[in-house]
Amino acid sequence: MTTVTRAARTIHDIKCWLTDMDGVLVHENQAIKGAAELMKYWRDNDLRFLVLTNNSIYTPRDLRARLLASGLDVPEQNIWTSALATAEFLARQRPGGRAFVIGEAGLTTALHDAGFIMTDQKPDYVVLGETRTYSFEAITKAIRLIEGGARFIATNPDATGPSAEGLLPATGAVAALITRATNREPYVVGKPNPMMFRSALNRIDAHSETTAMIGDRMDTDIIAGMEAGLLTALVHTGITSASDVDTFPFRPDLQFSSVANIHAELVAEGGKGSTKDAKPSKD
Ligand SMILES: [Mg+2]
Repeated sequence: MTTVTRAARTIHDIKCWLTDMDGVLVHENQAIKGAAELMKYWRDNDLRFLVLTNNSIYTPRDLRARLLASGLDVPEQNIWTSALATAEFLARQRPGGRAFVIGEAGLTTALHDAGFIMTDQKPDYVVLGETRTYSFEAITKAIRLIEGGARFIATNPDATGPSAEGLLPATGAVAALITRATNREPYVVGKPNPMMFRSALNRIDAHSETTAMIGDRMDTDIIAGMEAGLLTALVHTGITSASDVDTFPFRPDLQFSSVANIHAELVAEGGKGSTKDAKPSKD
């Protein structure tokens, strides 16, 4: 039996990268400094990577266009959403299954591509995703179908999402409404469920031991990365500040001010010996 010391891993051992999007690569539709350079480094060095998002509204094509408008050129095949993870999960669970879907193109396209039939007649699943047009009628239908035996799935647990005008109710909030009415909890595929990362690893043929996860949230990105066995790197450009880290009962493997510092560390001469920009979490 091989003894593996995870703390010994450094970013120079990493062959595949997973990264969160908001708060890591972009902030309010603006690319974060270093994001374009880091992704270029990955491409130039044949390092496989996926940009992850819990948002299930958009298709990878939509997200590519949005990222381009922010100044980041990310190929569609390098984008992995909770909608894609949900569709892959359900296709493995019940190939060719039937689903009643509350969601937008990101989710319906993913389920369609995964071979699912979308119907309100005897569906195997009620699948809830992000949308801006929740209708009372659709929610009522979902509640009745779940009461009738359909299994309840949600793409992501986020209770709110950001918008220019302020918070928006998100998938988790609507799931709570359905749960209250049915007394049934959904199975939630997106972060912090490590299922989101497991499907991402499969997608790029990555192994957890040589894959890193970059995130800005301890309670989603870092905990799920840790539970999936990845090297975890927290950046301080999003939700969790450097001073908040110590309040959590777990730690990221590495912390960086931003993705610019990860890029600098990767290109630093001397490779493994250089840790000037990386602050190991282990004291
Ligand atoms: Mg984030």
